[in-house]
Amino acid sequence: MTVMLPLKEKDKPIVKKLLSAGCCARCVLRFCCVSVQAAYRQAHQETLKELQAFIKEKETNEVQDSMPQTSTHEILKSHDAALSIDVEEPPCKRAKPDPTETDGSESGSAALVSPKNLDQRVCVVCLGILQDLCGPAQAKKIAETVKAENYQFDTLVLSVSLPAQLCVREHSCWLHVKKEVREKGLVLDKDDVIQVKEAFKWIIQGLVAKELVGVAVVGKSPFEVGVEFIHPETESDCHFLAKSCSDCFKPTKNKQSVFTRMAVVKALEKISDAAFLQHYPCPPLEASSGCTPQDIQCLHVSVFIAGRYNKFCRSLPQTPWVIDGERRMESSVEELIAAPILSAFRADGFNFSSSGREDVDVRTLGNGRPFAMELLNPHRCRFSKAEMKQLQETINESSEKVKVRDLQIVTREAMSRMKEGEEEKTKSYTALVWTQKAIEKEDIAFIDDIKDLTLDQKTPLRVLHRRALAIRQRVIHSMNARFVDPHHFYLGLKTQAGTYIKEFVHGDFGRTKPNLCQLLKTDTNILELDVESVDVDWPPPIPE
Ligand code: ZN
Repeated sequence: MTVMLPLKEKDKPIVKKLLSAGCCARCVLRFCCVSVQAAYRQAHQETLKELQAFIKEKETNEVQDSMPQTSTHEILKSHDAALSIDVEEPPCKRAKPDPTETDGSESGSAALVSPKNLDQRVCVVCLGILQDLCGPAQAKKIAETVKAENYQFDTLVLSVSLPAQLCVREHSCWLHVKKEVREKGLVLDKDDVIQVKEAFKWIIQGLVAKELVGVAVVGKSPFEVGVEFIHPETESDCHFLAKSCSDCFKPTKNKQSVFTRMAVVKALEKISDAAFLQHYPCPPLEASSGCTPQDIQCLHVSVFIAGRYNKFCRSLPQTPWVIDGERRMESSVEELIAAPILSAFRADGFNFSSSGREDVDVRTLGNGRPFAMELLNPHRCRFSKAEMKQLQETINESSEKVKVRDLQIVTREAMSRMKEGEEEKTKSYTALVWTQKAIEKEDIAFIDDIKDLTLDQKTPLRVLHRRALAIRQRVIHSMNARFVDPHHFYLGLKTQAGTYIKEFVHGDFGRTKPNLCQLLKTDTNILELDVESVDVDWPPPIPE
C-alpha cells in the first residue's frame, strides 16, 4: 500500500536538505509537519523512494536556487543517502537525467553504494528510532513481553523513553532548516515539528495491537508498557550544554545522570542559536549504530484493598519489628494479611495502613480495626465478590493469629476516609489492672460514674525516641470496673482515639495526669490490654 505523501512544491528544498543531512524518510515527514499518520506507517524504505521521486520531479527554480547554499559535504551525503536507492529502480523511471546528479562529481560513487548499505544507515536525528526500531520486530518483542507477564488488562498505554541527546540532534536539525521552513511558511516554530515520540507511537501502536489480539493501545490506561531506548555512543552530545547552561543541570539524588530529558529541553530553550552552532555540528554527525532498546517494563496501576482485622495474639507486632537490622518477631499482622492477597493479585509489593495501631502485646477484638492496602503493580486486578470472600477465607485459614472481615476492593479516594477525622473517633478498650493495695468491689465502683475525663498526656517515655515531646489532651468518655480479686480488676474504657491507655493506668511517672494511680490512691499497673472496638464506619460492612 502506498500513501500519497501530502507534500507540496515548496517542501522540496526542505526535503532535499534533510535527506542530504542524513535524515531518515520519516524524520523528513516530521520536519515537513506531515500529520497524516498513514504516511508514517508505510515502510520507511517506501517513503524514502517516494521522497526521492518527489525531489526529482521536474526541478523548479526554487530548488535550484537553494543548491548553491548546500555544501559539497552535503551533496556527498545526498548521493549516499538519498540517491543510491535509485540504483535498484527500473531504468524507465530514470529516463530523464537528474539535474542534481550533474551538479557534483560523485555520480559514480552514488552507484557504488548498495541498497543494503543504505538500509544500515542510521538517521542523524532519530538515531534509528523511526527506522527499524519501530517496525514489526520491535512490536512483536513488546507484545511477547506483555504476554509473558500475564497481566489482566483490556487496554494498554505505551510510554516511550528516548535518549536525551535526541533533543540536541532535533535542535541541530531544526537550526539546519529553520531559515528555509520559515521563508516558505511551512513551519512557524520548532514545536510545530511532529515529535519523534509521537511518530513512533503512530507507527508502533497499531502493530502492537495487532500482535495482542483484542487489546486496544490507547492514550490513557491503567496498564502501562514502557519502551526505553539508549544510545551510549552519542551520550556526550549533551555535555556542551552543561557549560553554557550550568544552572539547568543540578545533580539530583535519584537520577544517575544530570542530563535528563527535562534538563536538556530547558537548556535548549535558553541557549542562543549562535552559541549552539559554535559547540555542536549542524546538521548532526552520523552515528555508527542505532539506539539500543532496553528491557520492556510493564506496570499496572495500584489496586486498593480494605477490610478489618482482629489480632488474637499478644506477641505479634502490626508491622515487621526490626531493631538494628535484626528481626525481633517472626511475623506481623500486615505480613499475615498481605501474603495471600499478594499472591492472589500477583502484586509486586504493598503499602499497609490502618486506623491507628496496637502494641505488640495488645489484642484487637470485636469488629476489628479498619485497614487498607495499596497493592503495587498487580498482575490481576478484577475479583468478583465471591472471589474476595474466598480470598478472605484463605487469609483466615492461614493463621490463628489474625482474622479479617469485610475484605473488599476500594478506590484510592475512598482510602482517605479511613484517616479522615481520626482524632474525633472513639475507641473502646478492656485493661486488666493490678493494684498494689488490696481492694474491694466498693473501692472501684466510683469509676463507673466518671464521664468525659480530660487527660494531659506528655509524650510517653516508651515512644519518646520516635515522637516529639508534647503535651496532648485526650478525653476518656466513660469507664467501668469489673472486680476480679483483691489485687485485680478489669477496666473498660471508651476514649478519644490516640489516648495512651497504658500511661493512663500506670501514670508514666506522673507524665499523664490525672491517672488511675491518683484516682485509686495506690500504685496500679496494666497487665493486659485489648482493643474492643475501633469506631470508624469504614470500610462498609460486607453482608455474610
Ligand atoms: Zn529519523
